[in-house]
Amino acid sequence: MQPQPTIHHCDVLIIGAGGAGLRAALAAAESDLAVTVISKVQPQRSHTMAAQGGINAALGTRGADDWRWHMYDTVRGADWLCDQDAAARLCEQAPRAVLELAEWGVPFTRDTLDQIYQRPYGGQTVEFGKAPAYRACAAEDRTGQAMMQILIKRARAAHITLMHEFFALDLIMENGACKGVLCVDMASGTLHAFYAQTTILATGGYGQVYSATTAANTCTGDGNAMVLRAGLALQDMEFVQFHPTGLYDSGILITEGARGEGGYLLNGEGERFMQRYAPSSMELASRDVIARAIVQELRAGRGAGKKADHVLLDLRHLPADVWRDKLPYVQTLARMIAGVDVRSACIPVVPTVHYSMGGIPTNVHSQVLDVQNDSRVVEGLMAIGEAASNSCHGANRLGCNSLLDLMVFGKDAGDLVKEHLRPGVKVSASSTTLSALMDAYAAPSISAASAHARRRLQDIMTHAAPIYRNAADMQRGMEDLRTMAGSLRMRMPAPSPWPIDWIASLETENLWLQALATLSSALMRTESRGAHAREDFPARMDDAWLCHSAAAADLSGKTTCTTTPVRLESGIASIASIAPQARVY
Ligand SMILES: Cc1cc2nc3c(=O)[nH]c(=O)nc-3n(C[C@H](O)[C@H](O)[C@H](O)COP(=O)(O)OP(=O)(O)OC[C@H]3O[C@@H](n4cnc5c(N)ncnc54)[C@H](O)[C@@H]3O)c2cc1C
Repeated sequence: MQPQPTIHHCDVLIIGAGGAGLRAALAAAESDLAVTVISKVQPQRSHTMAAQGGINAALGTRGADDWRWHMYDTVRGADWLCDQDAAARLCEQAPRAVLELAEWGVPFTRDTLDQIYQRPYGGQTVEFGKAPAYRACAAEDRTGQAMMQILIKRARAAHITLMHEFFALDLIMENGACKGVLCVDMASGTLHAFYAQTTILATGGYGQVYSATTAANTCTGDGNAMVLRAGLALQDMEFVQFHPTGLYDSGILITEGARGEGGYLLNGEGERFMQRYAPSSMELASRDVIARAIVQELRAGRGAGKKADHVLLDLRHLPADVWRDKLPYVQTLARMIAGVDVRSACIPVVPTVHYSMGGIPTNVHSQVLDVQNDSRVVEGLMAIGEAASNSCHGANRLGCNSLLDLMVFGKDAGDLVKEHLRPGVKVSASSTTLSALMDAYAAPSISAASAHARRRLQDIMTHAAPIYRNAADMQRGMEDLRTMAGSLRMRMPAPSPWPIDWIASLETENLWLQALATLSSALMRTESRGAHAREDFPARMDDAWLCHSAAAADLSGKTTCTTTPVRLESGIASIASIAPQARVY
């Protein structure tokens, strides 16, 4: 039996110490508010550390650029499903956000004039689609690591309480408002209740729901699952991004920056096949387009290798200074993981799950919305980063827009609480609420975790909802998922150090809930848009489906799914709204 949790009070509670959580904490801590950040891993093990390619901003260091062109690309890349107020905010704030990072000491790669070097990236153009843009700012090909080192250093110097190896179990909800989070201290196995005026979820994506993914093992979307268990819905979960160039076999990412620097994609016949699918953008078309093109090539029997089951990334022609200054890590990864010398051989690649566009629905201020209930703001709860869906990325995120999202909306979220909260106002919940939460963890009869459960779940999703999906496969996947109901969560153990099996079972259950929500939305959306390609409904249908999906799922395996409107107005006079167009590549 677990004793009553230790109680903690703070003003702002942030779950997650990746880029989004730390940026929000830094902004909130510019005040007298008591800010606590909780992370299930040490901050430097957050997935943001793995980001390679860069962060977008219309700085214009290599020719004219304008944030409105960046916004146009973001909306077009999103296949028009993004909320345009969020896309406008993202792009308008980008130059400020990047220059701030540079001022804080992020070692961005520089050009010969000592300006921040900018590389081309998929879907980025100038003058509303006229020519490729140079917009991605990068610290070689280790941008996430460079940013995190600075953010962690600043967070440690600020008055922020950083508690790592604490695992968040559930939101403490009362009368529809969030009062804090129930957590377990992994080092001792004891429970802790953190009460806060505002809780900010920055728990990252759920890429681990598929078997081949660029996402770290820790990317289990725990915050998303906490929201589902609180009875709230998740938004746009059908939109899971496949990155075109995961290393064959391991799925480890080879950054899009490699194509930005001039890399080609070749099929088994040595042909640059992108000329068939995107003759003007070629290898710099958006990720959904290239991932689908690769599948088409493999289906047509034009894959490379003995099994014709992958394509090739050709970087042999890149000059020595590119390897030295811009892509040193790619060279190392290819050699160490795939045994390929990039100067003399091509890298075998396949599309790999990479990013979740869907997540916790929020408005442009990152306040969580109860989309099943007139989209009312859920008091005391905010969400940022990959966990959130403020929908600046819509149906498909452009490369280098996520790190930007973390910085822009992380800062905005911290600024909002700084503006609205008074330090020291104590919040708590009744003992009945807390006991009910604890009982749900004490009740399951399972005392040992199934080591195969996560793998089985990943197999189901890999077959049910790959790049091209159809109703029959997804329906079968849904039935398979439902057979797992009630078999995942282990009973909460008595306090003991590192209850790893128990936590692993909770992460698997979290993935399972999100798998249900993903299939439920993907079945409902009978069109193809962005990263969601239906074999049985190949066309985009704006009349019926220019709307968000909202899926709820519970522990019995029950799902419900509905739609909500897209915010098509930017709220900014100079670029009020970008109307849907046919896509030309
Ligand atoms: C390999 C790779 C390369 C990428 N490259 C780029 C790039 O070049 N440019 C770009 O824009 N985007 C890139 N992305 C995407 C981008 O890096 C991520 O979307 C982004 O870093 C997510 O940041 P985050 O702060 O939302 O979450 P994360 O960095 O994933 O952090 C999540 C945090 O939440 C904590 N947490 C989660 N669950 C719990 C729990 N139950 N209890 C307590 N704490 C919890 C974790 O400990 C962690 O601190 C890349 C992604 C990958 C996987």
